[in-house]
Amino acid sequence: MRTAIIGGGIAGLAAAYELEKARKAGSAVSYTLFESRDRTGGCLSSEVVDGLVLEYGPDSFLTEKPAAAELCRELGLGADLIPSNDANRKTHILVRNRLVPLPDGLMFLIPTKLVPTALTRLFSLSTKVRMALELLHPPRPSGLEDESVASLVERHFGAETVDRLADPLLSGIFGGDAAQLSARSVLPRLVEMESQYGSLTRGMLAAHRKMRAAAKKFSAQSSAGPRPARAIFTALRGGLQQLVDALTAQLDPASVRLSTPVNGLRKTDGGWRVDAGGAAEIYDAVIVASPAWAAGVLLGEVDPLLGEALGSIPYSSSITVNLVYDESQLGTLPEGFGFLVPASEGRSMLACTFVHRKFLGRTPPGKAVLRAFLGGMRGEAQLAETDADLVATLRRELSEILGEKVLSRQAEPVLTQVSRWRRAMAQYSVGHGERKRRIAERVAALDGLRLAGNAYDGIGIPDCIRLGRLAAKELLANHQVSESAGQQVS
Ligand SMILES: Cc1cc2nc3c(=O)[nH]c(=O)nc-3n(C[C@H](O)[C@H](O)[C@H](O)COP(=O)(O)OP(=O)(O)OC[C@H]3O[C@@H](n4cnc5c(N)ncnc54)[C@H](O)[C@@H]3O)c2cc1C
Repeated sequence: MRTAIIGGGIAGLAAAYELEKARKAGSAVSYTLFESRDRTGGCLSSEVVDGLVLEYGPDSFLTEKPAAAELCRELGLGADLIPSNDANRKTHILVRNRLVPLPDGLMFLIPTKLVPTALTRLFSLSTKVRMALELLHPPRPSGLEDESVASLVERHFGAETVDRLADPLLSGIFGGDAAQLSARSVLPRLVEMESQYGSLTRGMLAAHRKMRAAAKKFSAQSSAGPRPARAIFTALRGGLQQLVDALTAQLDPASVRLSTPVNGLRKTDGGWRVDAGGAAEIYDAVIVASPAWAAGVLLGEVDPLLGEALGSIPYSSSITVNLVYDESQLGTLPEGFGFLVPASEGRSMLACTFVHRKFLGRTPPGKAVLRAFLGGMRGEAQLAETDADLVATLRRELSEILGEKVLSRQAEPVLTQVSRWRRAMAQYSVGHGERKRRIAERVAALDGLRLAGNAYDGIGIPDCIRLGRLAAKELLANHQVSESAGQQVS
């Protein structure tokens, strides 16, 4: 089986790795990975500069989703997996230019502890009263139309909770807008809780009780005692580039074509014709692991309806800026990992991470790294600004937010670095589930075609890895079935 993989981001690399394993194990498979840039990894990119790990795209993955850590272990990177420094995990929200910590007991968007919710400065009195009354919210029948996250959260907790909590949190994860993101695709557990319990607070408390009971049962049955709490995020000691390098090193170099965009795809009698680098080649199967907008252009030639559905998945862009300071130049930063900025604050920046606090041991003593995020659905125009302008805006905003005593406008960063990620983050907008179903139906009708990447079933690194590997495994399984059927006939 000859397979073309289009796109060498983490999803395409994971697919190629799976095919390479089969090839090394003696299966009659070969593959070509086409990547338009001069490097593999897509959004994953990091560098070690003067002993300091600088992440240019994502910095970690959710520990709860095992696919990424499993792959790292398989690649021999197990000893380099490091947990986030959760003992110091506090996130602040900017409210009228003051940093307010998220109250204790907030489980994603849902307040579950009375006293911290009553005392927090994050919400006004009327929102707090609304949060208490939410306990009486009636169940909503399942099967109703999809709605936006903003609409779900506003129905339960009011508009202020959308502005100060849902929108900044989702813009941190998806670079997206709560008014556009699909509640059913982005917060499926909350949608289920609403249909079962009515109140999301009651649903969340019930889920928490179940988790505690399961943990108790585990520790009663296990001689090792209570299960240690897992860190929320996992990173790699040397940066996520370690994962890209380790994966790429596993592949057959002759099978990886960098700086070779695929610019045409056709279904033929013999399989799939792939046009790239001025040549056309025929493959038995194709894994399209490019962003959906690029997949839509290629597959629109094969099936216009499929092309249209793929092209209708919106994307947002993102800019990350690393500002490295000598700690001696800074006052005391607020506790925790950093802060999020609601759109209503009218700032350019969306968020800032105190990198040296989030993962220990990746920043040399005496240095501090502030990593700011810009862009998102409302910030596309910022992509056109120069690096110098972006850095100047951030330095001004950071000093206004943190205070001159903590970060003076005059304090010169020892290093600045800007990365632009154009149309990189798929947006699961309202109706995403239905769109995904239509896409899956049309893909199933095209023999030897699989899709992978962040546009379908999870935006994070673990889901992209899971989907890339799954695409390759499914093709391998079909190939084995047709091979053994061929042997039986002959
Ligand atoms: C700034 C930022 C921060 C993030 N933070 C996190 C985080 O902390 N944790 C987390 O889990 N996730 C995070 N994410 C999300 C996650 O990184 C991405 O969703 C994931 O890496 C996407 O992988 P992918 O392989 O689907 O796509 P991509 O990485 O976009 O790769 C697709 C590849 O396809 C190539 N391509 C496109 N068209 C063609 C063509 N015609 N021919 C050949 N090649 C083509 C592109 O050049 C690209 O390399 C972040 C994303 C960004 C942008």
